[in-house]
Amino acid sequence: MPTEELKKNAEQFLMGTYARQPISIVRGRGTKVYDLEGREYTDFVGGIAVNVLGHGHPDLVAAIQRQVAQLIHASNLYYTEPQVKLAETLVDHSFADKVFFCNSGAEANEAAIKLARRYSHAKYGDGRYEIVTMKNSFHGRTMATLTATGQEKVQKGYQPLVPGFSYVDFNHFAELERAVGDKTAAVMLEPVQGEGGVHVADREYLKATRDLCTGRDVLLIFDEVQTGVGRTGSLFAYEQLGVEPDIMTLAKGLGGGVPIGACLARDSVAQAFGPGSHASTFGGNPLACAAALAVFRVLLEGRVLEQARQMGDYLAKGLSDCKDRHHVVRDVRGLGLLQGMELEMDAKNVVSDCLKRGLLINATSERILRFVPPLIVTQREIDRLLDVLSQIFNRHAIESPAH
Ligand SMILES: *Cc1c(COP(=O)(O)O)cnc(C)c1O
Repeated sequence: MPTEELKKNAEQFLMGTYARQPISIVRGRGTKVYDLEGREYTDFVGGIAVNVLGHGHPDLVAAIQRQVAQLIHASNLYYTEPQVKLAETLVDHSFADKVFFCNSGAEANEAAIKLARRYSHAKYGDGRYEIVTMKNSFHGRTMATLTATGQEKVQKGYQPLVPGFSYVDFNHFAELERAVGDKTAAVMLEPVQGEGGVHVADREYLKATRDLCTGRDVLLIFDEVQTGVGRTGSLFAYEQLGVEPDIMTLAKGLGGGVPIGACLARDSVAQAFGPGSHASTFGGNPLACAAALAVFRVLLEGRVLEQARQMGDYLAKGLSDCKDRHHVVRDVRGLGLLQGMELEMDAKNVVSDCLKRGLLINATSERILRFVPPLIVTQREIDRLLDVLSQIFNRHAIESPAH
């Protein structure tokens, strides 16, 4: 179907929840995607931090094809090997002892919130259910997770929200300390805020937060839906930041593009869930778990993670040089291959200019660009991105000489 017709039909038949770029993507290979007209784009969005191995990785494709032919779904009424193997893999390579599988980031956080409440309820009874979250955070779009999300634009029009959430400034320990009280069951945060504009948690802040939580038996939940699975240069961001959470959630990169989410916890916490306390029909289905196992096999082999580390440093350095050369760039921040660039110009224009030059990038807000390419991105591709950004900023400087 021609792109114009597809756009028209999308408007007619889909609920209008997304503002989309005007291309129809039909195929992907490695770090490239191709639109209907055959134009090639280098993908610095990666399905929003999802396609960690790029598009069409042969090991991932083979694992999915094998599993599709063998068994797609069976229900959690029965055991299936890929689910148990994936849980074992996650446990072997993280702080956690137990895993619950679901299908998305919001569901993983929903599970984390439910687990924290249930743990607190079982141990301390009624009245200790509050979750303290961060301003500018993003935890999903279900009622509980949009309530956990400290951004009014996500909550607007959905009141009444779920009771029992409060919000504090990110990286501000004194404020967190004041907010944690007798009713607090958990503190929930992203080690690097993604949608909120790419803000990295300070190590000292996380250490103090960990100590505060441990001292009061308040659970520390890390939402690693975006930062997990190699994005920041280690399997999980917490490994680089010096503290371990009690609960961690994963989704985006976990299945390399196949929908899957996970909520991981220490044994003492996971005990709060028993048969019937939580469930998901599709959660941990063999297809999604086979895909995630293939992703992990590739990452654990080491080369892709090493590449992610090196290219993360290279991208951070390049963006920061770009900031030094262009007044319109206000700030550059991030960890590994989750990088953000704050501008003094409309980020949307930069996104569409990049698109015209064959680069997919993303803006998290009016003035912040986010770069979350597949972990297999190359130096040459990063050079090209930096070159295109420079051209766009130069032209902007000429057209708006105020700066
Ligand atoms: C994307 C994201 C979510 C929501 O994930 P969905 O799969 O869209 O529900 C939650 N938390 C963080 C940190 C995210 O980046």
